[in-house]
Formats: sequence, C-alpha cells, structure tokens
Amino acid sequence: MSAPAASVDELRDLYRELILDHARSPRHFGRPGNYTHCAEGINPLCGDKLRLYLLLDDEEIRDIGFEGAGCAISMASASLLADTVGGMSKAAALDYSAAFNARLAGDATAQATQSAIDFGKLRALEGVREFPSRVKCATLAWHALRAALNTDPHAITTE
Ligand code: ZN
Repeated sequence: MSAPAASVDELRDLYRELILDHARSPRHFGRPGNYTHCAEGINPLCGDKLRLYLLLDDEEIRDIGFEGAGCAISMASASLLADTVGGMSKAAALDYSAAFNARLAGDATAQATQSAIDFGKLRALEGVREFPSRVKCATLAWHALRAALNTDPHAITTE
C-alpha cells in the first residue's frame, strides 16, 4: 500500500492499454471443441456482432470461447468476460453479469449487491459510462452470456 496513488489520467491510460490489449489479442477467441450453450449478440448501433460459446458441466462453466467482430470495447469486454467467468458456476456467472450491467448502467439501486463483487480488470470498462452509446458495446457480450446460460442446451443441437 506504499506505492504512490496513480492519478486519474494515469489510471485512464492503464485502462486504455488494457482494453486495447484485449481487443488486439482477445483471450478465449474461437469456438471451443465442445460446447453446450451458445448465443449471439448484435449491437446494430455500432456494428458489433459476436457469438459466445459455453461448455457447461454440472452447472459449472468448464470452457468458454467467442467469435465475432466489432469495436475495441466490444471485443475487449468479451475477452475480459471469458477471462472472468470461466470456471464460475452458472448462478455465479448470472449474478456477476447482472451486477456488471447494473454498474455500467449506473443503477444506484444495485449498488449494495455490487459492493460484494470484485470487478477486477473489468473496471477498465467503467469509463464507457460517460458515453451512453458505448455502454451497449461493453455490455453486448454480457447479454449474450445471459442468453446462452438461459438457453436450453438441447435446443441448439439441431443448428
Ligand atoms: Zn461497439
């Protein structure tokens, strides 16, 4: 705790670097060899489009991957999502997703539940709150995550 506090500008630079890093080299990019759930997310306002794949076993996310194309924020958010929720239980991932969306939406009523959650690197995306049109870019992958988790796994095997 003895390190000097970073200025707001320095933090923003760090966050910008983190977002660009994840956008340029997305983690978990590609379709996993096996998956049980998937959902597509489209943000027509920006042209972001992605498909999220999950391998669930015993209600736990054993593998995760995504494909798609979009702006740096949408790709970084999907990459950070994959890094974050891989290994979580379905219930924990849904809770986390709801809390993250509420945080980006500036939902004050959700503050209490959010305080128990460590958003870690996802804090890098909080800057989009100043740009309402970009919030959809940052939350796209999270909407896809909820859609995928709420999909009946048997319904997508016919695709
Ligand atoms: Zn976008």
